[in-house]
Amino acid sequence: MGILVTGGAGYIGSVLTEELMKEGHSVIVIDNLSRGHREAVAAGAHLIPVDLGDAPALNNIFRRNKIEAVMHLAAYTSVEQSMKEPGKYFQNNVVCGVNLLEAMLRHNIGRIVFSSTAAVYGEPEKVPISEDSPLKPVNVYGDSKLTFERVLHWYAKAYGLEYIALRYFNVAGASSRFGADHHPETNLIPIVVRAALGEIECLPVFGTDYDTGDGTCIRDYIHVLDIAGAHMAALEGFNKGKGNSAYNLGNGEGFSVMEVIETARKVTGADIPVKICPRRPGDPARLIADYNRAKDHLGWQPQHSALEDIIKSAWLWQKKHPGGYDAGR
Ligand code: UDP
Repeated sequence: MGILVTGGAGYIGSVLTEELMKEGHSVIVIDNLSRGHREAVAAGAHLIPVDLGDAPALNNIFRRNKIEAVMHLAAYTSVEQSMKEPGKYFQNNVVCGVNLLEAMLRHNIGRIVFSSTAAVYGEPEKVPISEDSPLKPVNVYGDSKLTFERVLHWYAKAYGLEYIALRYFNVAGASSRFGADHHPETNLIPIVVRAALGEIECLPVFGTDYDTGDGTCIRDYIHVLDIAGAHMAALEGFNKGKGNSAYNLGNGEGFSVMEVIETARKVTGADIPVKICPRRPGDPARLIADYNRAKDHLGWQPQHSALEDIIKSAWLWQKKHPGGYDAGR
């Protein structure tokens, strides 16, 4: 199939593109390269460096290429930055997405898989979290993703567009070739492996006074390869009439920050010095996915669920890419 991946030069997009190519799809990546990396685009995929704000350029891309479905991952993803610069987040994560939908409509492309997030739930009333839980984002990032889910819902009603929103929990790990390279990095597992490799002196632990077993926050870590697999399952899902819905993607199991650090110490053999810091604003105590809907409707379930394997893959990738893709250039 001809598939357009927006944000295909980013962390998840790079692994997704690689996996789509392995399945024999022909992939066009569009990415403005503001946070993505040319080196992260798998050989054979066609990278077009363009911003989703550029409607004429988008129209040209749809006119010139055989595109049958879109996977929309391009977005800003920093919770902290979103609180300081909300306009930037609504512009990029919502308005640019609307540009994309308009271009799709103009060229009769009817299917889109959207990269959403567990942040749409905010502070959950109970865990595991199912898709029917209240949608109450507590930060701009989560609200921008939820807003675009609503846009998709109304485009489906108005134009018959089919969408699947995949609500990722904590994506981590790497393929053998592509991994996380954010500047600055804010996610726990990439920071833990950098600390294990001595790239970071000391790992901050944000809060040890949560109402959890060891006082640190609990998250559901899901391998990036499983996230890629869910996009493939979503494509099939459209054919089975499972579109126009949102699906949680997680392992259904939670680990505390301290458990992640302990596991990383075992996997890497490194000390990983930590520093106890105050809570990071806006961090819910517990986020764990109920992924039964994805299992029942899309036939998806995680294949790489062991936390050791997730951390190991991130560590191996970081060892091969000290300082990231651009280091040493
Ligand atoms: N965290 C931490 N130190 C760090 C980065 C993250 O203690 O250097 C904690 C963070 O407070 C949260 C958990 O690790 O409780 C997961 O954070 P991450 O940013 O990876 O994902 P989030 O759940 O915020 O999307």
